[in-house]
Amino acid sequence: MLQRTRNGKSRTVLVAGGAGFVGSHLCDALLARGDRVICVDSYITGSKDNVRPLLNHPDFRLIEADICEFDRIDEPLDQVYNLACAASPPQYQADPVHTMMTCVSGTGNLLSVAEQHGASFLQASTSEVYGDPAEHPQREDYRGNVNCIGPRACYDEGKRAAEALCFDMLRSARVDARVARIFNTYGPRMQPHDGRIISNLLVQAISGKPLTIYGTGEQTRSFCFVSDLVAGLMALMDVDPNPQGPVNLGNPGEFTINELAALVLAMVPTVSKMVRKPLPQDDPQRRRPDISRASELLGWEPKVPLREGLRHTADWFIATVGSDAERKPRSSTVRTQPVSPEMGMRV
Ligand code: NAD
Ligand code: UDP
Repeated sequence: MLQRTRNGKSRTVLVAGGAGFVGSHLCDALLARGDRVICVDSYITGSKDNVRPLLNHPDFRLIEADICEFDRIDEPLDQVYNLACAASPPQYQADPVHTMMTCVSGTGNLLSVAEQHGASFLQASTSEVYGDPAEHPQREDYRGNVNCIGPRACYDEGKRAAEALCFDMLRSARVDARVARIFNTYGPRMQPHDGRIISNLLVQAISGKPLTIYGTGEQTRSFCFVSDLVAGLMALMDVDPNPQGPVNLGNPGEFTINELAALVLAMVPTVSKMVRKPLPQDDPQRRRPDISRASELLGWEPKVPLREGLRHTADWFIATVGSDAERKPRSSTVRTQPVSPEMGMRV
C-alpha cells in the first residue's frame, strides 16, 4: 500500500530510536508500505542487530547519533517519529540526567528538524504521564499523579515536558505535532536484559531461573503486542485532521503480575518458581488505557490477545537467545548499574 507521495516520490520518514524494540518494527512497517526510512539511534538501549536485515535495503539509511546533539538533516523529510528514549525503568534510571535531556532537549531538536522540513511529527509519550493513577482506567483528560522528584521522574516528567513542547509547537503553528501515550508494549526484539516484566519473566523461565515478582504481584498492567502498537502509531501520524490532543495507544486487557507469571509458567517448559522481591519506589499499582479516543479518531483497536502475543514473544526469545539468555545482554550500550529495588532500580 503506497501512501501519499511528495513530487511523485515515496515519502521520507525519520525514525529516531529506530534501532530499538518498537522503532525497528516501525521501520519495517514503513519500508513495507513503500516509504524511505532514515533511522537515527545512539544504540544506548537499542541494537544495530534490530535493523541489520534492513542495512542493504535501498530505501533505508542509518545514522548513529544522540538526539541531544542532532539538529539537522541533509535531505527533505515528510514525517518524523520520535521514539528515542530508554523505556525500561532500570535503563531510564541508569543515567537519569541523560534520560531527562533526551526527552526535553532531544525532542526539542527533533521538533526543529521537523519544522525546518515542514514535516509532521509524532512523539512517543507514555502511560507514565499518569504516574500512579488515581483514576482508572486512564483517559487522556486525566492529569495524572506523578512524583516529580522520585526515581521515575526523569522519565515521567521528561515525557510530560516533551508533550508540553509538542503542543506549544502545534499551537504556535510551527509543527504538525501528534502525541501517542503508549501503554506497556511487548514482542520480539525486546532486549533480554532490559529489566521489563515480560522480557524478565520469559528469560527467567527459559533459563530455569526464579521468576522475580516485585511486591505482592497484585499490581496490574495492560499489555499491547508490538504489531498493534505500530499500526496505531502510523494511523495517528497519518490521520487528518490533527487530533490536537494526546491519544492513548494500548491494549485494555488488564492483568496482575501474578496472572502474567502464571501464563508464562504455563507456556514455557521450565523448572522455575516465583520469588518475591521488594516493590520499586513509586511503582504504579494499576494501569489500563481507555482507548475510546483512538477508536473514534483512528478506527484503531488492538487485535492480538495477550496469550497469542506472549506465545510469539516466547518463541522468539527461545529461538534467538535461548539458554544464552541468562549470560549476557545483546549489544546495547546502556550504562546500567546493579541497584536495589528499594532505590527504584533493580539488579
Ligand atoms: P527501546 O529502549 O527498545 O528503544 C529506544 C531506542 O531509542 C533505542 O534504540 C535507544 O538506543 C534509542 N535512544 C535512546 N536515547 C537516545 C538518544 N538520546 N539519542 C538517540 N537514540 C536514543 O524502547 P522501546 O520500548 O522501543 O520504546 C520506544 C519509545 O516508546 C520510547 O520513547 C518509550 O518511551 C516509548 N514507550 C514504550 C513503551 C513500551 O512498553 N515499549 C511504553 C511507553 C512508551
Ligand atoms: N516487575 C516485576 N518483576 C520484574 C520486573 C517488573 O514484578 O522482574 C513489575 C514491576 O514492579 C511493575 C510491573 O512488573 O509493577 C511492570 O514493570 P515494567 O518494568 O515492565 O514496566 P512499568 O510499567 O513499571 O514501566
